[in-house]
Amino acid sequence: KTPVPSDIAISRSCKPKLICNLAREIGLLTEEVELYGETKAKVLLSALDHLKHRPDGKYVVVTGITPTPLGEGKSTTTIGLVQALGAHLHQNVFACVQQPSQGPTFGIKGGAAGGGYSQVILMEEFNLHHTGDIHAITAANNLVAAAIDTRIFHELTQTDKALFNRLVPSVNGVRKFSDIQIRRLRRLGIEKTDPAALTDDEINRFARLDIDPETITWQRVLDTNDRFLRKITIGQAPTEKGHTRTAQFDISVASEIMAVLALTSSLEDMRARLGKMVVASNKKGEPISCEDLGVSGALTVLMKDVIKPNLMQTLEGTPVFVHAGPFTNIAHGNSSIIADWIALKLVGPEGFVVTEAGFGADIGMEKFFNIKCRYSAPHLVVLVATVRALKMHGEEDLDLVEKGFSNLRKQIENAKMFGVPVVVAMNAFKTDTDAELDLIGCLSREHGAFNAVKCTHWAEGGQGALALARAVHRASQAPSSFQLLYDLKLSVEDKIRIIAQKIYGADDIELLPEAQNKAEIYTKQGFGNLPIWVPTGFFLPIRDIRASVGAGFLYPLVGTMSTMPGLPTQPCFYDIDLDPETEQVNGLF
Ligand code: ADP
Repeated sequence: KTPVPSDIAISRSCKPKLICNLAREIGLLTEEVELYGETKAKVLLSALDHLKHRPDGKYVVVTGITPTPLGEGKSTTTIGLVQALGAHLHQNVFACVQQPSQGPTFGIKGGAAGGGYSQVILMEEFNLHHTGDIHAITAANNLVAAAIDTRIFHELTQTDKALFNRLVPSVNGVRKFSDIQIRRLRRLGIEKTDPAALTDDEINRFARLDIDPETITWQRVLDTNDRFLRKITIGQAPTEKGHTRTAQFDISVASEIMAVLALTSSLEDMRARLGKMVVASNKKGEPISCEDLGVSGALTVLMKDVIKPNLMQTLEGTPVFVHAGPFTNIAHGNSSIIADWIALKLVGPEGFVVTEAGFGADIGMEKFFNIKCRYSAPHLVVLVATVRALKMHGEEDLDLVEKGFSNLRKQIENAKMFGVPVVVAMNAFKTDTDAELDLIGCLSREHGAFNAVKCTHWAEGGQGALALARAVHRASQAPSSFQLLYDLKLSVEDKIRIIAQKIYGADDIELLPEAQNKAEIYTKQGFGNLPIWVPTGFFLPIRDIRASVGAGFLYPLVGTMSTMPGLPTQPCFYDIDLDPETEQVNGLF
């Protein structure tokens, strides 16, 4: 067989459909589509209104066994599967995938658009600015950061009365509170709407947030792998009068705003979540939110286009939503709920929406189910396995494959614990032997998988995932009785314990003092009923707990976790250049 060309060569050899034609083909109305050139479009949320009476399609989640640095081919399999279902079996399909951070594009090679003959196109656009969503998130995030430090500064330099006069300026001799300010007054128990009616004490309480700088959890962000920003000092110019503090930059996709985007259900809900994001505490230990800072309306304005899912296509012309991509280290690592909803309506009751739960069937799938599926119930799990991940070894070695299978077995059990059938997709590499693949297939079926099939979509496109598509089709007819792992009303500690024991097989957990303290604080602040996601590994002393209140989850910290990646010695940007004649981007993967 001829060798498979590079990803970019394959991507370029294909002539994409005009995105406006694809949009029409899948049933979107002209007024529901905003074109961004010929290969990308945003889809308006109003599509949900016109489709609201149509029943949803089948919801399929693709996940992998515990990840190896090489990746098992989750993205490639997601795309291969929709190509097979859509272009070969003529089913209505949609793939819903995450938008990658631009950081790694210039750092370590490896796109997220799939690979080989199973890709989202155009891959340059997929991996670079796209429709500007991440840039908008960066802008919104940093507006919050600026609001925090400036507010602290102004409160330090001005009297309460002067602050009040600036926060509620008089226009033509009349002072008026904004809607956000009225909501804040109400939260403070002040039921007045006329600024002139406030007593001195009420003015003081309204004007001062009294943020304790030591408690600030909100960081600045940038979508570049810039490790030198992991710890910085801000406020060094003389104009800040000595108010310096230590701060940090995170990668943009680690912003809580990205997690909010992934989990939100409407503009109104997004606005509420952005307002609820907690950025610090005041000196009394009470939470300070974006609503308190008065910034949530402006954030919503910056995010108003970002909330619309981005339509693209696969190499075989089936539709893809690329929307949201929270940093898996600190969030749940799934594409957006809104994109899934629109896709589920567009494909209709016989169709399939395939989405990916990043980062392994334990971490990724657990979070997908317990956090994302509180909104949409999945019909089945496709578990991607590779021989190389099971044995981490060159030649045929059935013993190693059998030993490595214990990981796959645990993931099959994990999926079944949620009551959902599992199809194992054996993503075949050319070095795999039939004996190895057969062994994985037999063991998987023996341990409860609905089926286990070999796939060659990387080398052959949709054609290579036909067996998988048929298995998925059949499994989707099987009864599925999705159930969540824990009740949100349990205590923070109990929720962490259930996840640790059931998904990771830990004996027990131990909350170290800092984490114990945080569990108490969050419970007292009223956030104890949020879902939890637990990170990786075998543990489990829980070092600390953080809250993403706007996004709606708590996350325990186990070790130190980097939220700003670095660049390697030989970064990819060395190879990236523009051909001035053709304006083609060269050197991307
Ligand atoms: P994941 O989503 O699990 O991280 P990807 O689908 O991104 O994995 O695949 C990781 C890398 O491996 C990509 O560069 C992809 O092109 C490549 N790859 C995936 N499947 C195969 C295969 N069967 N043969 C060769 N390369 C593959």
